[in-house]
Amino acid sequence: MIVKTEGIVLKSFDFRETSRIATFFTRDFGKVKGVLKGIRKDPKKFGSSIEKFSVNDIVYYQYRNSDIHLVSHCDMKDFYSGLRQDLERMTAASYAAELIDTLMPAEERSLEIYGLMQAFLKCLQTCPDVSKLVQTFQIKILSISGFQPHLETCVSCRKNVSDAPRFSLRLGGLLCGVCKDANGEATPISLGAVASILHIQKNNWDAALRLGMAPFIKKELKYVLNHFLVFHLERHLRSTRFLT
Ligand SMILES: [Zn+2]
Repeated sequence: MIVKTEGIVLKSFDFRETSRIATFFTRDFGKVKGVLKGIRKDPKKFGSSIEKFSVNDIVYYQYRNSDIHLVSHCDMKDFYSGLRQDLERMTAASYAAELIDTLMPAEERSLEIYGLMQAFLKCLQTCPDVSKLVQTFQIKILSISGFQPHLETCVSCRKNVSDAPRFSLRLGGLLCGVCKDANGEATPISLGAVASILHIQKNNWDAALRLGMAPFIKKELKYVLNHFLVFHLERHLRSTRFLT
């Protein structure tokens, strides 16, 4: 079957003598791997050099019994040139691409994730605060992919947490003063940091980005989000490894 769609390049690597295999996150079919035959021998064969994070119009033959399809056309639409000259921005874009590659199963469509990645890359070109942008992306992708931390109440007894909340990586949520000792390790987290995450969870991308954050809250978010993502990704990767 011949398929036409739009896709963001998550990664690519050389394949055999003259080709490359690229992983695209496509608008219509989710994460798709495709081989671009002869692209290294004849770079003009495709209207794209499949740069990481570029948006491309692609046409490919969908093979039923393979997870790698044959790309016949690939034309670059958007290059996000504004983020290419800056190491911090390139690192942030690589991180986002890796998160999507790890979290998303092959060929599962998600318009929400596609829109999130586009919004993220677009803002990354000009946004003065890269770390806030990355944290907003982390909170949004956790929500969309079903790992949203439970912050409204205590994750164990479901009562409101009014003071000295702690965050449990294992349970993925807040623990109140009564439950904190019975549930293993949990990191102290300020009510301000909790409110910031909730605000970003509940608002759309633009409104979430307008939220002002004190430096100490940003530092807390960085710690909690990075540890939470690593914890869940490891568990997620382990469980997929068991399946194969
Ligand atoms: Zn509790």
